[in-house]
Amino acid sequence: MVSVTGSNGKTTTTTLIQLMLDYKRAQGHAYAAGNIGIPLSQVAQKVTDQDVMVTELSSFQLMGTTTVKPKIAVLTNIYEAHLDFHGSRANYVQAKMRIVQNQTADDYFVVNWDLPELRELSQQTKAQVVPFSRLGASQAGAYVEAGQLCFKGEAIMPVEEINIPGDHNVENALAALAGAKLMGQSNEAIIEVLTTFTGVKHRMQFVTEYQQRRFYNDSKATNMEATEVALKSFQQPIVLIAGGLDRGFTFEPLLPLLKAHVKAVILYGETKQLLAQTAKEAGIQVIEIVDHLTEAVPAAYAASAAGDVVLLSPACASWDQFKTFEERGDVYLDAVDKIIAE
Ligand code: ADP
Repeated sequence: MVSVTGSNGKTTTTTLIQLMLDYKRAQGHAYAAGNIGIPLSQVAQKVTDQDVMVTELSSFQLMGTTTVKPKIAVLTNIYEAHLDFHGSRANYVQAKMRIVQNQTADDYFVVNWDLPELRELSQQTKAQVVPFSRLGASQAGAYVEAGQLCFKGEAIMPVEEINIPGDHNVENALAALAGAKLMGQSNEAIIEVLTTFTGVKHRMQFVTEYQQRRFYNDSKATNMEATEVALKSFQQPIVLIAGGLDRGFTFEPLLPLLKAHVKAVILYGETKQLLAQTAKEAGIQVIEIVDHLTEAVPAAYAASAAGDVVLLSPACASWDQFKTFEERGDVYLDAVDKIIAE
């Protein structure tokens, strides 16, 4: 079992590792399971000793475990999250660190070396610590050097050939390649997956390129922090589609990134006026307000030019108009299809 936890990047990293381990696999399969949406108990019934389970484990799930013992444990990062549930940061951190509780010196702990707190925490494990560092802080594991993704002194591929955008995805790629290398997987598998993977559905998913506009679906961005990460991921001008459930806060924190990256906003949902206010303060010239996402997509296309990114990253939960963020993302995908068909 290879297990992945962290505040952000779990699903992406789990998926990358599963794809890498399944690529041209001689025997058995690599299965993704757990918090990713496929019950671990279901997969556990069919695996054989030829197979590998790549499990995404949330802090909620880890909290109750006493026997979990992955061969490779991956900790992507720890940011403030779910403190409402765990009560304190210390409890949250300790829940995550249960991933290493039963590991021995034959096992590995892949951990983000760019976060000082995690370097400190890695002293708690008996497993072999394998750092990953986007900033090149250590060469003992996976790291970036001279624009290349490297593992223990070996350059594997250029960073710029990773198909999913953003610095955070460089971190996910490093964590995943460390896991794959430790499992003995080939560079070919790592390169194939990192150069072709288009993202987990609804999470900065690359949808299509049409008339030189690149469409992305980040419906999973149910809060401002996620939308900030999304906006930072692009060099190109962004036409942003946003809005949704009103939780009673303002969107001030988005202002600098709106200013730096966004040329037009198309807003819908309960928060449309609040977001419009922030967009105005950011000096955005094109601000359009519509009733529903289905109208927002053609409006965004009309506001875009060749070379732009059209991005759904709502910065809000979906529950004012949709059952789930998945449903919202599917509506977006259908609307993009419709533009192309017409
Ligand atoms: P999780 O499963 O932990 O929720 P995902 O892989 O589904 O993480 O990514 C969800 C969102 O979190 C992404 O759309 C992106 O905005 C952000 N994200 C992903 N990876 C990272 C990372 N390594 N560091 C910070 N933010 C990230």
